Amino acid sequence: MSPSLDDLPLRDDLRGLTPYGAPQAPLPVALNVNENTHPVPEEVADDILDAVARALRDVNRYPDREFTHLRESFAEYLGHGLTPDRIWAANGSNEVLQHLLQAFGGPGRTAMGFGPTYSMYPLLTRATGAQYVAGTRGPDFTLDPASAAAQVSELRPDVVFLCAPNNPTGTPLGLDVIEAVYDATDGIVIVDEAYQEFAPRESPSALTLLGERERLVVSRTMSKAFAFAGARVGYLAADATLIDALRLVRLPYHLSALTQAAATAALSHSSTMLRMVDEIVAQRDRMSATLDALGYHAYESWTNFVLFDGVDDPRATWQALYDRGILVRDVGIPHSLRVSAGTEDETTAFLEALASIDSEA
Ligand code: PMP
Repeated sequence: MSPSLDDLPLRDDLRGLTPYGAPQAPLPVALNVNENTHPVPEEVADDILDAVARALRDVNRYPDREFTHLRESFAEYLGHGLTPDRIWAANGSNEVLQHLLQAFGGPGRTAMGFGPTYSMYPLLTRATGAQYVAGTRGPDFTLDPASAAAQVSELRPDVVFLCAPNNPTGTPLGLDVIEAVYDATDGIVIVDEAYQEFAPRESPSALTLLGERERLVVSRTMSKAFAFAGARVGYLAADATLIDALRLVRLPYHLSALTQAAATAALSHSSTMLRMVDEIVAQRDRMSATLDALGYHAYESWTNFVLFDGVDDPRATWQALYDRGILVRDVGIPHSLRVSAGTEDETTAFLEALASIDSEA
Protein backbone atom coordinates (compact mmCIF):
# COMPACT_ATOMS: atom_id res chain seq x y z
CA MET A 1 0.00 0.00 0.00
CA SER A 2 1.39 3.45 -0.82
CA PRO A 3 2.05 5.69 2.18
CA SER A 4 -0.25 8.58 3.05
CA LEU A 5 1.08 12.11 3.53
CA ASP A 6 0.93 11.52 7.28
CA ASP A 7 3.52 8.76 6.95
CA LEU A 8 6.07 11.07 5.29
CA PRO A 9 8.47 13.37 7.13
CA LEU A 10 6.58 16.34 5.67
CA ARG A 11 7.17 19.85 7.07
CA ASP A 12 4.81 20.32 10.02
CA ASP A 13 3.50 23.60 8.58
CA LEU A 14 2.39 21.83 5.38
CA ARG A 15 0.38 19.13 7.17
CA GLY A 16 -3.35 19.39 6.61
CA LEU A 17 -3.08 21.76 3.62
CA THR A 18 -4.83 20.90 0.37
CA PRO A 19 -3.24 21.69 -3.00
CA TYR A 20 -4.80 24.10 -5.52
CA GLY A 21 -7.43 21.94 -7.12
CA ALA A 22 -9.73 23.44 -9.74
CA PRO A 23 -11.12 20.35 -11.52
CA GLN A 24 -9.69 19.79 -15.02
CA ALA A 25 -12.57 17.85 -16.56
CA PRO A 26 -12.78 17.49 -20.36
CA LEU A 27 -16.20 19.09 -20.73
CA PRO A 28 -17.31 20.86 -23.94
CA VAL A 29 -17.78 24.24 -22.19
CA ALA A 30 -15.02 24.94 -19.63
CA LEU A 31 -15.71 28.23 -17.86
CA ASN A 32 -14.12 27.48 -14.49
CA VAL A 33 -10.59 28.91 -14.39
CA ASN A 34 -10.96 32.32 -16.05
CA GLU A 35 -9.07 31.36 -19.17
CA ASN A 36 -9.45 33.23 -22.42
CA THR A 37 -11.54 30.70 -24.34
CA HIS A 38 -10.50 32.18 -27.70
CA PRO A 39 -7.39 30.57 -29.19
CA VAL A 40 -4.29 32.57 -30.17
CA PRO A 41 -5.25 34.37 -33.43
CA GLU A 42 -4.29 32.35 -36.50
CA GLU A 43 -2.33 35.20 -38.11
CA VAL A 44 0.12 35.45 -35.21
CA ALA A 45 0.33 31.76 -34.34
CA ASP A 46 2.73 31.11 -37.25
CA ASP A 47 5.02 33.91 -36.16
CA ILE A 48 5.13 32.55 -32.63
CA LEU A 49 5.84 29.06 -33.97
CA ASP A 50 8.71 30.38 -36.12
CA ALA A 51 10.23 32.08 -33.08
CA VAL A 52 9.95 28.90 -31.03
CA ALA A 53 11.47 26.87 -33.89
CA ARG A 54 14.46 29.26 -34.06
CA ALA A 55 14.95 29.03 -30.31
CA LEU A 56 14.88 25.26 -30.55
CA ARG A 57 17.99 25.30 -32.73
CA ASP A 58 19.98 26.72 -29.79
CA VAL A 59 18.33 24.71 -27.10
CA ASN A 60 21.58 22.84 -26.36
CA ARG A 61 22.62 26.09 -24.60
CA TYR A 62 21.09 27.55 -21.46
CA PRO A 63 18.75 30.46 -22.18
CA ASP A 64 19.45 34.14 -21.45
CA ARG A 65 19.24 34.14 -17.67
CA GLU A 66 18.15 37.78 -17.67
CA PHE A 67 15.51 37.27 -20.45
CA THR A 68 16.59 40.62 -21.87
CA HIS A 69 14.43 40.71 -25.01
CA LEU A 70 11.37 39.63 -23.12
CA ARG A 71 11.89 42.36 -20.51
CA GLU A 72 12.28 44.94 -23.24
CA SER A 73 9.01 43.73 -24.77
CA PHE A 74 7.15 43.91 -21.45
CA ALA A 75 8.53 47.40 -20.75
CA GLU A 76 7.30 48.54 -24.15
CA TYR A 77 3.89 46.89 -23.71
CA LEU A 78 3.33 48.40 -20.25
CA GLY A 79 4.52 51.91 -21.17
CA HIS A 80 4.45 54.39 -18.25
CA GLY A 81 8.13 55.10 -18.90
CA LEU A 82 9.13 51.70 -17.52
CA THR A 83 12.60 50.42 -18.37
CA PRO A 84 13.62 46.72 -18.69
CA ASP A 85 15.49 46.82 -15.35
CA ARG A 86 12.12 47.46 -13.68
CA ILE A 87 10.52 44.33 -15.15
CA TRP A 88 10.60 40.76 -13.87
CA ALA A 89 8.99 37.65 -15.37
CA ALA A 90 8.47 33.99 -14.51
CA ASN A 91 6.44 30.91 -15.41
CA GLY A 92 3.02 32.41 -14.75
CA SER A 93 2.26 35.18 -12.31
CA ASN A 94 1.95 32.45 -9.68
CA GLU A 95 5.71 32.03 -9.92
CA VAL A 96 6.20 35.80 -9.92
CA LEU A 97 4.24 35.92 -6.65
CA GLN A 98 6.23 32.98 -5.32
CA HIS A 99 9.50 34.83 -6.01
CA LEU A 100 8.16 37.86 -4.13
CA LEU A 101 7.20 35.70 -1.15
CA GLN A 102 10.52 33.85 -1.19
CA ALA A 103 12.31 37.19 -1.04
CA PHE A 104 10.01 39.09 1.33
CA GLY A 105 7.98 36.38 3.13
CA GLY A 106 9.45 33.26 4.71
CA PRO A 107 9.60 31.96 8.29
CA GLY A 108 8.56 34.41 10.99
CA ARG A 109 6.93 36.76 8.50
CA THR A 110 3.32 37.55 7.65
CA ALA A 111 1.42 38.22 4.45
CA MET A 112 -2.15 39.45 4.25
CA GLY A 113 -4.89 39.68 1.65
CA PHE A 114 -8.53 40.74 1.85
CA GLY A 115 -10.90 37.79 1.51
CA PRO A 116 -12.52 36.48 -0.47
CA THR A 117 -9.56 36.84 -2.79
CA TYR A 118 -7.24 34.75 -4.96
CA SER A 119 -6.95 31.32 -3.36
CA MET A 120 -3.25 30.96 -4.12
CA TYR A 121 -2.16 33.83 -1.83
CA PRO A 122 -2.40 31.73 1.35
CA LEU A 123 -0.93 28.65 -0.32
CA LEU A 124 2.05 30.50 -1.78
CA THR A 125 2.61 32.31 1.51
CA ARG A 126 2.54 29.15 3.64
CA ALA A 127 4.79 27.28 1.22
CA THR A 128 7.53 29.79 2.05
CA GLY A 129 6.97 29.20 5.78
CA ALA A 130 5.24 32.54 6.38
CA GLN A 131 1.90 33.08 8.04
CA TYR A 132 -1.13 34.26 6.04
CA VAL A 133 -3.81 36.46 7.55
CA ALA A 134 -7.12 37.14 5.77
CA GLY A 135 -8.36 40.71 6.15
CA THR A 136 -11.99 41.56 5.45
CA ARG A 137 -13.97 43.49 2.84
CA GLY A 138 -17.10 45.59 3.05
CA PRO A 139 -20.52 45.03 1.49
CA ASP A 140 -20.50 43.58 -2.02
CA PHE A 141 -16.82 42.69 -1.50
CA THR A 142 -15.62 46.27 -1.92
CA LEU A 143 -12.55 47.54 -0.07
CA ASP A 144 -12.34 51.14 1.10
CA PRO A 145 -9.13 53.02 1.86
CA ALA A 146 -9.81 53.65 5.55
CA SER A 147 -10.70 50.07 6.38
CA ALA A 148 -7.84 48.57 4.35
CA ALA A 149 -5.29 50.95 5.87
CA ALA A 150 -6.58 50.32 9.41
CA GLN A 151 -6.34 46.54 8.98
CA VAL A 152 -2.80 46.84 7.62
CA SER A 153 -1.69 49.23 10.40
CA GLU A 154 -2.98 46.84 13.00
CA LEU A 155 -1.44 43.65 11.60
CA ARG A 156 1.82 45.15 10.31
CA PRO A 157 2.31 42.46 7.63
CA ASP A 158 5.54 42.12 5.63
CA VAL A 159 3.61 41.61 2.39
CA VAL A 160 0.13 42.85 1.40
CA PHE A 161 -1.82 41.46 -1.55
CA LEU A 162 -4.30 43.73 -3.30
CA CYS A 163 -6.05 41.94 -6.14
CA ALA A 164 -7.22 44.60 -8.60
CA PRO A 165 -9.76 43.77 -9.92
CA ASN A 166 -10.39 41.02 -7.41
CA ASN A 167 -10.67 37.30 -8.09
CA PRO A 168 -13.11 35.58 -7.40
CA THR A 169 -15.52 38.50 -7.03
CA GLY A 170 -14.62 40.72 -10.04
CA THR A 171 -14.64 43.79 -7.77
CA PRO A 172 -12.74 46.92 -8.92
CA LEU A 173 -10.19 48.47 -6.54
CA GLY A 174 -9.61 52.21 -6.36
CA LEU A 175 -6.10 53.65 -6.58
CA ASP A 176 -6.90 55.45 -3.32
CA VAL A 177 -6.95 52.07 -1.54
CA ILE A 178 -3.49 51.23 -2.89
CA GLU A 179 -2.12 54.62 -1.81
CA ALA A 180 -3.65 54.29 1.66
CA VAL A 181 -2.32 50.76 2.15
CA TYR A 182 1.14 51.74 0.93
CA ASP A 183 1.26 54.62 3.39
CA ALA A 184 0.06 52.35 6.22
CA THR A 185 2.87 49.79 5.91
CA ASP A 186 6.63 49.42 5.66
CA GLY A 187 6.12 46.12 3.87
CA ILE A 188 5.85 45.14 0.23
CA VAL A 189 2.52 45.98 -1.45
CA ILE A 190 1.66 43.70 -4.35
CA VAL A 191 -1.11 44.85 -6.67
CA ASP A 192 -2.16 41.79 -8.66
CA GLU A 193 -3.51 43.09 -11.97
CA ALA A 194 -4.05 39.69 -13.59
CA TYR A 195 -7.34 40.94 -15.06
CA GLN A 196 -6.53 44.62 -15.65
CA GLU A 197 -6.98 44.45 -19.44
CA PHE A 198 -10.68 43.67 -18.91
CA ALA A 199 -11.29 46.80 -16.81
CA PRO A 200 -12.80 49.88 -18.47
CA ARG A 201 -10.19 51.54 -20.71
CA GLU A 202 -10.27 54.80 -18.76
CA SER A 203 -9.58 53.17 -15.40
CA PRO A 204 -5.97 53.81 -14.40
CA SER A 205 -3.62 50.97 -13.56
CA ALA A 206 -1.54 50.86 -10.37
CA LEU A 207 1.41 51.30 -12.74
CA THR A 208 0.64 55.03 -12.54
CA LEU A 209 1.54 54.88 -8.82
CA LEU A 210 4.93 53.20 -9.16
CA GLY A 211 6.99 56.42 -9.37
CA GLU A 212 8.91 56.83 -6.12
CA ARG A 213 7.14 54.01 -4.29
CA GLU A 214 10.02 51.55 -4.00
CA ARG A 215 7.99 48.91 -2.12
CA LEU A 216 5.12 48.80 -4.62
CA VAL A 217 4.84 45.92 -7.11
CA VAL A 218 2.35 45.54 -9.96
CA SER A 219 2.01 41.98 -11.23
CA ARG A 220 0.39 40.94 -14.49
CA THR A 221 -0.07 37.78 -16.53
CA MET A 222 -0.28 36.71 -20.17
CA SER A 223 -2.70 33.94 -19.13
CA LYS A 224 -5.93 35.91 -19.41
CA ALA A 225 -6.21 38.77 -21.90
CA PHE A 226 -3.30 37.45 -24.01
CA ALA A 227 -4.84 33.96 -24.35
CA PHE A 228 -1.51 32.45 -23.33
CA ALA A 229 -2.33 30.44 -20.18
CA GLY A 230 -0.70 27.27 -21.48
CA ALA A 231 2.60 29.05 -22.16
CA ARG A 232 2.92 30.06 -18.45
CA VAL A 233 4.14 33.64 -18.53
CA GLY A 234 3.61 36.21 -15.79
CA TYR A 235 5.48 39.44 -15.11
CA LEU A 236 5.72 42.42 -12.82
CA ALA A 237 6.88 46.01 -12.72
CA ALA A 238 8.59 47.51 -9.68
CA ASP A 239 11.64 49.45 -8.58
CA ALA A 240 14.93 48.15 -10.05
CA THR A 241 16.34 47.41 -6.58
CA LEU A 242 13.35 45.26 -5.69
CA ILE A 243 13.92 43.32 -8.92
CA ASP A 244 17.50 42.68 -7.77
CA ALA A 245 16.12 41.01 -4.66
CA LEU A 246 14.17 38.56 -6.82
CA ARG A 247 17.39 37.40 -8.46
CA LEU A 248 18.40 35.95 -5.10
CA VAL A 249 15.56 33.45 -5.07
CA ARG A 250 14.86 32.51 -8.68
CA LEU A 251 16.32 29.31 -10.06
CA PRO A 252 19.04 29.86 -12.62
CA TYR A 253 17.56 29.98 -16.15
CA HIS A 254 14.02 29.74 -14.78
CA LEU A 255 12.46 30.95 -18.04
CA SER A 256 13.12 28.45 -20.81
CA ALA A 257 14.38 29.63 -24.20
CA LEU A 258 11.12 28.36 -25.73
CA THR A 259 9.02 30.35 -23.27
CA GLN A 260 11.07 33.50 -23.83
CA ALA A 261 10.81 33.14 -27.62
CA ALA A 262 7.07 32.46 -27.58
CA ALA A 263 6.26 35.32 -25.22
CA THR A 264 8.49 37.83 -27.02
CA ALA A 265 6.90 36.93 -30.37
CA ALA A 266 3.40 37.16 -28.89
CA LEU A 267 4.14 40.59 -27.42
CA SER A 268 5.31 41.88 -30.78
CA HIS A 269 1.68 41.32 -31.85
CA SER A 270 0.08 42.59 -28.68
CA SER A 271 -2.81 44.40 -30.32
CA THR A 272 -3.79 41.28 -32.31
CA MET A 273 -3.29 39.08 -29.25
CA LEU A 274 -5.60 41.38 -27.27
CA ARG A 275 -8.18 41.62 -30.04
CA MET A 276 -10.76 39.46 -28.28
CA VAL A 277 -10.78 41.49 -25.06
CA ASP A 278 -13.69 43.71 -26.16
CA GLU A 279 -15.69 40.66 -27.25
CA ILE A 280 -15.01 38.94 -23.90
CA VAL A 281 -16.11 42.09 -22.04
CA ALA A 282 -19.30 42.15 -24.14
CA GLN A 283 -20.03 38.49 -23.26
CA ARG A 284 -19.28 39.19 -19.59
CA ASP A 285 -21.78 42.05 -19.56
CA ARG A 286 -24.38 39.97 -21.41
CA MET A 287 -23.84 37.22 -18.84
CA SER A 288 -24.32 39.65 -15.92
CA ALA A 289 -27.48 41.18 -17.43
CA THR A 290 -28.99 37.77 -18.19
CA LEU A 291 -28.13 36.41 -14.73
CA ASP A 292 -29.91 39.39 -13.18
CA ALA A 293 -32.90 38.81 -15.48
CA LEU A 294 -33.00 35.16 -14.39
CA GLY A 295 -33.36 36.34 -10.79
CA TYR A 296 -29.76 35.95 -9.64
CA HIS A 297 -27.51 38.81 -8.56
CA ALA A 298 -24.37 39.35 -10.62
CA TYR A 299 -21.67 41.32 -8.78
CA GLU A 300 -20.03 44.18 -10.65
CA SER A 301 -17.09 42.72 -12.57
CA TRP A 302 -14.06 44.35 -14.19
CA THR A 303 -12.63 40.95 -15.11
CA ASN A 304 -13.38 38.17 -17.60
CA PHE A 305 -15.67 36.35 -15.16
CA VAL A 306 -18.79 36.93 -13.11
CA LEU A 307 -19.61 35.95 -9.54
CA PHE A 308 -23.34 35.61 -9.00
CA ASP A 309 -25.37 34.85 -5.91
CA GLY A 310 -28.93 33.80 -5.28
CA VAL A 311 -28.04 30.14 -5.88
CA ASP A 312 -29.96 28.00 -3.33
CA ASP A 313 -27.57 25.06 -3.46
CA PRO A 314 -24.32 25.91 -5.32
CA ARG A 315 -23.11 22.31 -5.25
CA ALA A 316 -26.34 21.01 -6.83
CA THR A 317 -26.34 23.75 -9.51
CA TRP A 318 -22.64 23.13 -10.21
CA GLN A 319 -23.43 19.43 -10.71
CA ALA A 320 -26.50 20.11 -12.87
CA LEU A 321 -24.37 22.37 -15.12
CA TYR A 322 -21.63 19.71 -15.17
CA ASP A 323 -24.16 17.12 -16.29
CA ARG A 324 -25.03 19.45 -19.18
CA GLY A 325 -21.37 19.68 -20.22
CA ILE A 326 -20.62 23.03 -18.58
CA LEU A 327 -17.88 23.55 -16.02
CA VAL A 328 -18.12 26.55 -13.65
CA ARG A 329 -16.47 27.15 -10.26
CA ASP A 330 -17.84 26.81 -6.78
CA VAL A 331 -15.46 29.12 -4.92
CA GLY A 332 -16.99 28.42 -1.52
CA ILE A 333 -18.87 31.72 -1.21
CA PRO A 334 -22.36 30.87 0.15
CA HIS A 335 -25.15 30.81 -2.44
CA SER A 336 -22.72 31.81 -5.20
CA LEU A 337 -20.97 30.44 -8.25
CA ARG A 338 -18.29 31.96 -10.49
CA VAL A 339 -18.33 31.63 -14.27
CA SER A 340 -15.84 32.84 -16.88
CA ALA A 341 -17.08 34.72 -19.92
CA GLY A 342 -16.72 32.40 -22.91
CA THR A 343 -17.17 32.80 -26.62
CA GLU A 344 -20.65 33.92 -27.65
CA ASP A 345 -21.72 30.26 -28.13
CA GLU A 346 -20.23 29.11 -24.83
CA THR A 347 -21.84 32.00 -22.97
CA THR A 348 -25.19 31.18 -24.57
CA ALA A 349 -24.78 27.49 -23.69
CA PHE A 350 -24.16 28.40 -20.05
CA LEU A 351 -27.08 30.82 -19.80
CA GLU A 352 -29.49 28.41 -21.50
CA ALA A 353 -28.37 25.52 -19.32
CA LEU A 354 -28.85 27.59 -16.17
CA ALA A 355 -32.30 28.69 -17.31
CA SER A 356 -33.25 25.07 -18.03
CA ILE A 357 -32.09 23.99 -14.56
CA ASP A 358 -34.19 26.76 -13.02
CA SER A 359 -37.28 25.72 -14.93
CA GLU A 360 -36.86 22.12 -13.69
CA ALA A 361 -36.36 23.18 -10.08
N1 PMP B 1 -3.54 36.23 -9.93
C1 PMP B 1 -4.85 36.07 -10.05
C2 PMP B 1 -5.75 37.06 -9.40
C3 PMP B 1 -5.38 35.00 -10.77
O1 PMP B 1 -6.70 34.85 -10.86
C4 PMP B 1 -4.50 34.08 -11.38
C5 PMP B 1 -4.98 32.90 -12.19
N2 PMP B 1 -6.19 32.40 -11.93
C6 PMP B 1 -3.12 34.29 -11.22
C7 PMP B 1 -2.68 35.38 -10.50
C8 PMP B 1 -2.11 33.34 -11.75
O2 PMP B 1 -2.12 33.25 -13.12
P1 PMP B 1 -0.90 32.68 -13.94
O3 PMP B 1 -0.01 31.92 -13.01
O4 PMP B 1 -1.53 31.83 -14.98
O5 PMP B 1 -0.22 33.88 -14.50
